[in-house]
Amino acid sequence: MRLSRYFLPTLKEAPSDAQIVSHQLMLRAGLIRQEAAGIYAWLPLGLRVLKKVEQIVREEMNRAGAIEILMPTLQLADLWRESGRYDDYGDEMLRIKDRHERDLLYGPTAEEVVTEIFRAYVKSYKALPLNLYNIQWKFRDERRPRFGVMRGREFLMKDAYSFDLDEASARKAYNRMFVAYLNTFARMGLKAVPMKADPGPIGGDLSHEFIILADTGESQVFCDRNLVEMLAPGGDVDWDDLQGIVDERTSMYAATEEMHDAADFESRTPEADRLTARGIEVGHIFYFGTKYSAPMKAKVAGPDGVDTEIHGGSYGVGVSRLLGAIIEASHDEGGIIWPDAVAPFDVVVINLRAKDDAVSAACEEAVAALEAAGKDVLYDDTDERPGGKFATADLIGVPWQLTIGPKGLADGVVELKRRATGEKVSVPLAEALQRIAG
Ligand code: ATP
Ligand code: MG
Repeated sequence: MRLSRYFLPTLKEAPSDAQIVSHQLMLRAGLIRQEAAGIYAWLPLGLRVLKKVEQIVREEMNRAGAIEILMPTLQLADLWRESGRYDDYGDEMLRIKDRHERDLLYGPTAEEVVTEIFRAYVKSYKALPLNLYNIQWKFRDERRPRFGVMRGREFLMKDAYSFDLDEASARKAYNRMFVAYLNTFARMGLKAVPMKADPGPIGGDLSHEFIILADTGESQVFCDRNLVEMLAPGGDVDWDDLQGIVDERTSMYAATEEMHDAADFESRTPEADRLTARGIEVGHIFYFGTKYSAPMKAKVAGPDGVDTEIHGGSYGVGVSRLLGAIIEASHDEGGIIWPDAVAPFDVVVINLRAKDDAVSAACEEAVAALEAAGKDVLYDDTDERPGGKFATADLIGVPWQLTIGPKGLADGVVELKRRATGEKVSVPLAEALQRIAG
């Protein structure tokens, strides 16, 4: 992609209402444009990252056995009247009428819709376990939209819904999502800690929020320091028996403010390991039993032929919020530092003298070689001055910067910089390509 033909509207300074660094950087690097409070347009660079984040979430859901569908953004109010939530949900729900005066709403979540789909088709326990997910825009008319995509009104969520015959198998479904979440966030370079969360009226221990520690986070959290550094289990696990992996994590103390019990924290965690911090909630998993299947009559015939209400759980990931969380966790004074897995481009090739034919030819050769190696390349072929080019490259946080100028060309070298460490080397092009290829 040639920068001279691209659409990358960067800003020198962030608008003063952007309070936290991720919001400032998302605006400055030209990732998003605010259209209304909590409502954003995704610009090309932001959209690229959003798609990468979404794809990691999708791959890990699929690996855990969940099946992708796509539910509508607009939902019928009648379904929510069936579950009893239409009146309860309150002002966060955006309510709409169509031309026939029918009540619709912009979905803030999709338990009702997915339960309606399930009950229409699934009649026997033989179809279970089943986990259906979608990655779809949600709308919540938040009281205080703020911090950019962190607390938007319109935001992209991955929401999965599991269906099981009884609580024991629902727990297995829950464990699969628990492990899938650990792997998902780790692939994005994040340390997400599962913390005991409010289980709501059902009670029990099957509710966890996945939290990224960050000073700007909206949640107050308490946990054992060792949990933060624990590595994700990876995909090569026994997906039918994950209890050991889950127990290993949940045996250590980690709780959000609503669930915090100071005495329990102190008795279970040596003083030196006690961590009190702020955090960003990037995911929430939840078992709710028959909360929706009972009022909405979602039943299947069990092995004994008797109709049974299914046991459900729901599992959310804040896909668009994750961009903010990743930037909060990975930036410096110069700008964003994208982890390789979610970077909008793998490498930016910087032409230091775009008017010089020999330099441009060398740059184009480098771009072609990188593209042939399967890399996504942004080619800065503009005639901006070098300082501005380096500043832009740092701001947008592409993992590798490959710079070619007349002097290096004469010496047969290019300059390669790793954004994350700032390390620079002057090497022949072939060696630079090798380093980038990893
Ligand atoms: P919060 O406590 O932050 O409002 P929630 O409990 O309402 O979150 P869920 O209903 O569990 O969130 O939604 C699943 C995920 O969607 C959350 O873990 C979060 O990452 C994301 N999410 C929720 N609300 C927003 C929002 N307003 N903007 C961006 N992402 C959100
Ligand atoms: Mg909320």
